[in-house]
Amino acid sequence: MKTFNYHSPKDVKTASKLSSTSSIFLAGGMTSIPSMKLGLATYKDVIDIKNIKKLSGIKVSGNSVTIGATTKHAEVASSKEIQKKIPSLSKLAGGIGDAQVRNRGTVGGSIANNDPSACYPSACMALNAIIHTNNRKIEAKNFFKDMFETVLKKGELIEAVEFKIPEKSNYQKHPNPASRYAIVGIYLAKHKKEVNVAVTGAKSVVYIDKDLSKALSSSFFSSAIEGMELDSSEMNSDIHASADYRASLVVTYAKKAVEAC
Ligand SMILES: Cc1cc2nc3c(=O)[nH]c(=O)nc-3n(C[C@H](O)[C@H](O)[C@H](O)COP(=O)(O)OP(=O)(O)OC[C@H]3O[C@@H](n4cnc5c(N)ncnc54)[C@H](O)[C@@H]3O)c2cc1C
Repeated sequence: MKTFNYHSPKDVKTASKLSSTSSIFLAGGMTSIPSMKLGLATYKDVIDIKNIKKLSGIKVSGNSVTIGATTKHAEVASSKEIQKKIPSLSKLAGGIGDAQVRNRGTVGGSIANNDPSACYPSACMALNAIIHTNNRKIEAKNFFKDMFETVLKKGELIEAVEFKIPEKSNYQKHPNPASRYAIVGIYLAKHKKEVNVAVTGAKSVVYIDKDLSKALSSSFFSSAIEGMELDSSEMNSDIHASADYRASLVVTYAKKAVEAC
């Protein structure tokens, strides 16, 4: 690992001011530290955001649950409030990686990193989340651009993620047996006026499957999507699963998610 300057600001303004084209925000370090250790990335300044109190915590109000960016997966998994309001979100957090990852990894780090197999981006899409940054509010559907790419600008810090509380929801994933990342993950949410089927792991970036969402909006039963065949031409194909297999997993796990609601 190359040498760098370590900063531990106490507020968002200072953190943002410290950032440059050769800096990184450090949350739990679950992705950033291995990347630096392996020499995949080098930075002049590492800006640790863990000591910024404002960025951590869980708040339930009206029809939404807001989670601070540095809140850890283990906190989301064990939160009684989230278990009550959006149990599928606690389930998702409790199924991430292993105990070490869940006790270091953060919501903000997960969505800023936008790994194509990460679980949280699918929750953001299905739950019509709003990403609060130090500059603006971004709808989840406009946030995730492509593999490991979001619309965040240099120095822009995620402060919190606001999830809309659905009528019903469920998260199902076919996990990589080693890392628990999703080979395919389905976050299904039934809202008053729409059903969202968000898919992670299948393509280069998380997306809402419009066909599955439409079919389930008309009839919220697994039979409504039984036998559906999805276009696999843009799906990932790798040592874990072929594109066709992923397409079939999407339907299978969407059915499981409906049945679990
Ligand atoms: C072994 C292993 C297994 C895993 N399994 C899963 C899994 O099953 N499912 C899953 O979804 N994920 C999984 N993960 C990912 C994990 O959950 C972390 O969320 C992810 O690695 C990001 O780590 P972090 O939160 O510590 O962020 P960091 O590594 O500290 O940061 C990651 C990136 O996000 C940026 N960033 C962090 N916070 C902010 C912020 N507030 N604003 C702007 N930018 C920010 C950083 O600058 C950096 O570029 C796994 C990781 C590991 C190492």
